Amino acid sequence: MKPPYPMLVDTLPEAAPRERRVYFEVFGCQMNKLDSELMLESLVARGYQLTHDSDEASVILYNTCSIREHAEERAISRLQTFRKRKESEPDLVLGLLGCVAQHKEAELFKRMPYLDMVVGTREFDQLPELIDAVRAGDEPRLATEMDSPLVFSRRRNLGPQPWHAYVSVMRGCDMVCTYCIVPTTRGKEVSRPPEVILDEIRRLAGDGVRELTLLGQTVNSYGKRLGPGIGLDTLLRGIEEINGIERVRFITSHPRFMRPKLIDAMAECSKVTDFLHLPVQSGSNAVLARMKRTYDRDFYLKVIERLRDKMPNLHLLTDFIVGFPGETEAEFEESMSLVDAADFDYGYVFMYSPRPGTVSHRLADDIAEEEKKRRLHTILHALEENGRRRNLDSIGRRVEVLVEGVSKFDASRMAGRARDFRMVVFPASPLDRPGSFVEVEVESTTAGTLLGRRIGPPGSDPVMPPTVRRAPGSGVPSEPQPPRRPAGI
Ligand code: SF4
Repeated sequence: MKPPYPMLVDTLPEAAPRERRVYFEVFGCQMNKLDSELMLESLVARGYQLTHDSDEASVILYNTCSIREHAEERAISRLQTFRKRKESEPDLVLGLLGCVAQHKEAELFKRMPYLDMVVGTREFDQLPELIDAVRAGDEPRLATEMDSPLVFSRRRNLGPQPWHAYVSVMRGCDMVCTYCIVPTTRGKEVSRPPEVILDEIRRLAGDGVRELTLLGQTVNSYGKRLGPGIGLDTLLRGIEEINGIERVRFITSHPRFMRPKLIDAMAECSKVTDFLHLPVQSGSNAVLARMKRTYDRDFYLKVIERLRDKMPNLHLLTDFIVGFPGETEAEFEESMSLVDAADFDYGYVFMYSPRPGTVSHRLADDIAEEEKKRRLHTILHALEENGRRRNLDSIGRRVEVLVEGVSKFDASRMAGRARDFRMVVFPASPLDRPGSFVEVEVESTTAGTLLGRRIGPPGSDPVMPPTVRRAPGSGVPSEPQPPRRPAGI
């Protein structure tokens, strides 16, 4: 796996000495990728250079994910391949970072005695000092305090698309969903002050960023403990005032915090896009109670009703977990009926698997693997059919597209995202620039993509003023693209 920061690698003018070369791999969610970007920026500021070749590196770091056992083991087994090299090259620094570090802590040193650093999710900003400390002495370093404030001062956008940036607005989670390891690995919820976030966004806009994705484990509970009146709604209204930013979306939301004032802000801010990922997890009240999701089916449906009332073009994605302990056939059928009742545009379906350290790990994992698979395919099929049907409604409509580049499947076409995050493919023009906006009329659809012809000029600035962007029909449903979300929910 290549580190995902080509800009950081390619823009460095001179080769750093070997002891300043770092190899970095990241697993898991978007929050992990953003954390990695921030860590790398702080290392580069101290003279480190990122390399794609681990043989060239004297510092080897793995930022890990523990949401699934498979991801955890993959990261550990990669790190284990450096054992022999460490024996012959004792100055090599090997570090395991992130959720697995936070979850397993010192146990990792027993499993890998040659490991130099275990750095948890609230101590990332200490990374340069920890590398120095490892080099200054022989002691391995364990940094897994959960009370650390974690302060990163970000100077630039290192993501692969210069016009798009992820911005972390809060970290951690105060919820107690019984299947989820995130509260253990990411700690209690902490929101960043709004003025700090808005300053960061102004800098990003000055560097050419036009589209933002705000990140948080329960992003729509943003503002907790910051004082009265501060929430995601006020943050969105603040971003609305920043010149240069054209689109904002946020992931991932919890149904309980989808409050009326937030829905109003989403509908009223022209920069907030018609996209929402709102995991429901089950359509059965009994299962939702066993998961401790803190809402029921009716509450969820009322939230959707309000959303669709205020945002008629909303593209709504969800998540389901099938095969949760004790899920009966009747309870599963309630999830199936929710697909119809909520009329989702798309959804992601996961087979339940117990994670050590969670409450549900103590429950009997009593649904057979084959039955979990059957339920997964059944509900996924229903979601896809729903999405396909809703997608057809877009034919003949005009959508604003933020151009991303040449289509992966056809070099004579360009691909970009509609305001509701669906992929749109259209004939290329020599003047097309990634990061520019064009207007496309949809002529046909596949299961996840809109195909159309260009209406607006290529390579232009936004072709439609904000008021037009919200017009009914400017973009609708269904697009099975990765939601690029933080872990959990
Ligand atoms: S599933 Fe989401 S809301 Fe629930 S504990 Fe995990 S991160 Fe928090």
